[in-house]
Amino acid sequence: MLKIFRKLFVLICFCIFSVQVFAAPVVEKIRVGQNGAATRVVLESNQPIKSNFFVLPSPDRFVMDFGTLSFKTSLSGVKIPEKSILKGMRQGLFKPGVIRMVLDLNGPVEPTVFAIPANGEFGFRLVIDLKPRKGKSVSIKRKTPSLATARTIQPKVKPKPKEAPVVVVIDPGHGGVDPGAVANKAYEKHIVLKISKYIKANLSKNKNIKVYLTREKDIFVPLADRVNFAQRKQADIFVSIHADAHDDHRAKGGSIYVLSEKSSDREAARLAKAANKGDIMAGVDFSAEAPAVRNILVDLTRRQTKNKSSLLARSVLDELDGVVRLRRKEVLFAGFKVLKSHVVPSTLVETSYLSNPRDARVLKSTSGQKKIAAAVAEGIEDYIKNHMRK
Ligand SMILES: [Zn+2]
Repeated sequence: MLKIFRKLFVLICFCIFSVQVFAAPVVEKIRVGQNGAATRVVLESNQPIKSNFFVLPSPDRFVMDFGTLSFKTSLSGVKIPEKSILKGMRQGLFKPGVIRMVLDLNGPVEPTVFAIPANGEFGFRLVIDLKPRKGKSVSIKRKTPSLATARTIQPKVKPKPKEAPVVVVIDPGHGGVDPGAVANKAYEKHIVLKISKYIKANLSKNKNIKVYLTREKDIFVPLADRVNFAQRKQADIFVSIHADAHDDHRAKGGSIYVLSEKSSDREAARLAKAANKGDIMAGVDFSAEAPAVRNILVDLTRRQTKNKSSLLARSVLDELDGVVRLRRKEVLFAGFKVLKSHVVPSTLVETSYLSNPRDARVLKSTSGQKKIAAAVAEGIEDYIKNHMRK
């Protein structure tokens, strides 16, 4: 009889213990302190907290994701020192099982996060040091070290099998009712389609690459459809091909672009405007366009895609150098709508100016088109070799 009681007692104890162990942590206290330029945020809890964090630019934010957890005090009530880089704090359910805390910042930071075990009067502490960082805002992503371990939350992008071929989408600019540049008795839309077909022929020799064109004939394709096409094909690489014009016939040379809200120079901005005009030329109705989704995960993916886009652009630029004369020997930025994919690394190649007599001669000749195509294909293969398949 005693034995049974003892067993029962152990069982009850185990149950109570289990409930305590598996209950979600509670953040009981939050402190914010200032030490010189650095701001320290301390979350004190009744159990160790699992978390991971990252910082995001424009606007600058520090983001920390927890598993299930609750806050005893409201974050909006926490006192923030006057000169702090910290502007405000908020938290909430991000998705089932994930509580997200966002710290709004006055500028970029170099965060340090560490955990301290409970001792004496103090509970478990998660310490976030936010040191102002000089220079441009960039995204940094890290797991909280030591006590904390958690799954890194990754945006869901293409669950592709490892050995699947690399998917490349080549986008011949313009088409149909939108001729693009018309100069020196030639149409941009025809020239870029030919170059794109040669690029496809070149890349298709490689069995590990699958190539699609956004248009195979002289047809109008809205810019958004080109982006969607690449996403639907689960493209790894998107390269848009153009040969725009300038009022000044002396303007010459090719240039390579990645997406940015700011343009590298006035000519970059002008070229983007010209390339974006296609939709307006074709009378596309913009009223149905969904507003931009300002989601933190989208921001993060966008950042990652942007880095890859720059590497892709650089590879293409290096191969084109010497094949065509370049307007500028660096990757340029401009607001090309067709580069607005959040998930597909994208670059736009202005092969050179159709309005320049010497450039036009190359662009109109089959040999010139083939040379340009070979260089672009080579650049794409370099990117795959150096940055995708290690
Ligand atoms: Zn164009």
